[in-house]
Amino acid sequence: MGEVALVTGASRGIGAAIARSLADAGYSVAVNYARSADLAEAVVSEITMSGGTAIAVQADVSDADAVAGMFATVTDELGPVTVLVNNAGITDDGLLLRMGVDQWDHVLSTNLRSVYLCTKTALKPMLRARSGRIISVSSISGIAGNPGQSNYSASKAGVIGFTKSIAKEVGSRGITVNAVAPGFIATDMTNALGEAVTEGVAKQISLGRLGQPEEVASVVRYLASEDASYITGQTLVVDGGLAL
Ligand code: NAP
Repeated sequence: MGEVALVTGASRGIGAAIARSLADAGYSVAVNYARSADLAEAVVSEITMSGGTAIAVQADVSDADAVAGMFATVTDELGPVTVLVNNAGITDDGLLLRMGVDQWDHVLSTNLRSVYLCTKTALKPMLRARSGRIISVSSISGIAGNPGQSNYSASKAGVIGFTKSIAKEVGSRGITVNAVAPGFIATDMTNALGEAVTEGVAKQISLGRLGQPEEVASVVRYLASEDASYITGQTLVVDGGLAL
């Protein structure tokens, strides 16, 4: 069995672009989703029609039992995961004084607890194999902060700290652990903000436009590759010069 990539939240947006890009690079790809079965199946069909190997696997990545089931399915059907991409994430914005505890917990568990659960599960066979790649999708909000996103920023800053700690824990076993921090990428997540907001943000980006999911996917593909064998514990910013 060859290289197997599990991409969480790969039914749409950045995750779908990462799944397609890794499949193009020859990985067998597990396309995880929470609710969008049709979209996940469409990503799988696109990959298989181009000669690649992919399966769709449903799991809420904040749920420990669901994560265990997802890894069991992927291992049975494709083999042990050699590249884990922790991409699934949500926003639920609001100013802190109006932010309910459920709103805080839901974002933290979807964006950060999931990274703990999936990474811990993926690492066991990687440690035995003495190789592997963990790549997590953080955000520029986790570096620079953003008003109305204290829950989201905290989760994404948590991903960066987690990445550094695990890189130190497993580096001696030949496993690299990195993150990418996208800025403003054109997906459902940013479309939901409306045209006026996205046009305003585009003016603050050095490159003068939103990024495309494929422009994040190519960086993830690089971090997964042999070319990135001496990079670990890093967060690569992919924001078109937004946070300069
Ligand atoms: P998106 O278009 O809203 O897609 C989110 C994906 O996450 C979907 O595939 C969704 O699955 C999945 N998901 C949500 N909750 C899940 C759960 N509990 N379990 C499993 N999957 C779940 O988002 P995106 O813009 O592509 O964002 C992808 C990642 O990039 C996120 O971590 C996000 O925070 C980060 N990011 C995005 C931007 C941006 O500008 N777009 C910037 C910085 C960072 P379903 O379709 O089944 O719901």
